[in-house]
Amino acid sequence: MTDRLYYNGRVFTGCSDDADADAFRVSGDGTFSWAGHFEGDPPEGSVDLGGRFVLPGLIEAHEHALIVAGIASASPCTIPAVRNIDDMVELLRRNPNFGKGPDAWITGWGYDETKLAERRTPTRHDLDRVSTTQPVYVIRSDCHSGICNTRALELAGVTRDTPDPKVGAFGRDPDGTPNGVLFELEANARVRNLAEKPDFESVVRTIAASARHFHERGYAVTTEMMARLAPLNHLRAFREAEKLGFDLQAALYLVWEGKADPFGMRDLLPEEKTGRVRFAGLKLFADGSVSGRTAWVNRPYSDGTTGLSTLDLPTLAAAYEYARRNALQLSIHVMGDRSLDRIIDFFADKDPWLDGIPSVRLEHVTLISRAQLARMRRGRMSWGATTQVIFAFAEIESYREALVPEVFKEIYPVRMLESELGPLALSSDSPATTWMDPDDMAVSLEAAVTRRAYEGSSINAAQSIPVGKALRLYTGRASGIFRTEVPAGRIAAGCEADFNVMSADPFGMEPEDLRNLRVDEAYMRGEKVFARR
Ligand SMILES: [Zn+2]
Repeated sequence: MTDRLYYNGRVFTGCSDDADADAFRVSGDGTFSWAGHFEGDPPEGSVDLGGRFVLPGLIEAHEHALIVAGIASASPCTIPAVRNIDDMVELLRRNPNFGKGPDAWITGWGYDETKLAERRTPTRHDLDRVSTTQPVYVIRSDCHSGICNTRALELAGVTRDTPDPKVGAFGRDPDGTPNGVLFELEANARVRNLAEKPDFESVVRTIAASARHFHERGYAVTTEMMARLAPLNHLRAFREAEKLGFDLQAALYLVWEGKADPFGMRDLLPEEKTGRVRFAGLKLFADGSVSGRTAWVNRPYSDGTTGLSTLDLPTLAAAYEYARRNALQLSIHVMGDRSLDRIIDFFADKDPWLDGIPSVRLEHVTLISRAQLARMRRGRMSWGATTQVIFAFAEIESYREALVPEVFKEIYPVRMLESELGPLALSSDSPATTWMDPDDMAVSLEAAVTRRAYEGSSINAAQSIPVGKALRLYTGRASGIFRTEVPAGRIAAGCEADFNVMSADPFGMEPEDLRNLRVDEAYMRGEKVFARR
């Protein structure tokens, strides 16, 4: 097969902030061989784009692809469908597993107690109204905490005598009996690991089936930010899914479970760090969330608290040593500026250990100052970041409630990050967002450009960025955060021929309509993989 020419389009190549080409060529090996301006008679077999807008295949730089893949059978306990606890109970009773016997888990995702009319976290007493015979489990919007019913607590063996983990806790009734609220990762995992303990084959099938979800939304590259080696090796699962048709490139980040002791994770094999799906890094959590007031901040929240650190220095040091030895990136969840200070201090005298991509990537950076960016630049370390304006878009009420006004007006400074930090991506952190279709790029795009929340109020409007810059943070700029087997995120010679024909030209849309932008056709490696009917 010779090169195929696509011409007469509005082509955003991801190499600049504008639609800077009208044509491109795709070669027989599934990569782009050229992009630019075409004049003259197109050869036979060329494709007339009819003036339509084309984007490179998108990069979702911070996502939980496994949870997204698994969400199919879990009930979305989010706005607009769920506005109070009765709605949630009702919705869970319509879960496909309802009535399927005592071993069938009824699961949901995405609740946020601040969005519920009752403004409290549902407990087992609420979820027992869904079922007393079947286990029920719902993961919170932040994917850190969860809630479950009495049956689920029984199956997990969590009783009055079960001690709380070091970080987080089991919520309790006044008499000390666990009330079904599972605060933070460790407590949450006690139940979650049972609820989501499908056999290897069904995980593989779920991943394979999720390719369509990603194609419809225009993604060619995705990430799994909480991957594991055991009990289920997620890399192996993705690779089996590739045989069943999963065709995206994917970067997997291993949750650091080594703590500070030397008996942590085994070293990785070279073949685990190459290929279309690969282990790309380690994931650490330095703090919680701003909306939940668990991010560690320099200036107190409106209730006078300052959040907490979930990362001690010996653990950070052990993870750093492991990452260097294994040539992996360190990805650090850091929302609060106080946590960030400590991370900047730690790396102040350290050298980068990876070439061409940042050795350390910061996730979310809800609060980051110009002074902190300057300190980062003064050291030798190479930094990258992902940030999620969609959090504030969807969770505006909790941000407004948690933060005093002076701090609120500094959140998600995307304009500053965009101009001061090279490797930067906008992303959704899906499904860790209380929104019904959280990894719809168009919603993040609208939030970044308009800086308005879903209900119309302003989110620090001075940090708005133009639409072209926002698109680049999902394409060309995002491609600088981590490496892929075949270069991606740009329509340029040598990059994988992943592209999307869009429903409209976002440069011509009203900013407040951007969320309606859709993928009409998606192509991977030059082949059409999705067409909207
Ligand atoms: Zn995440």
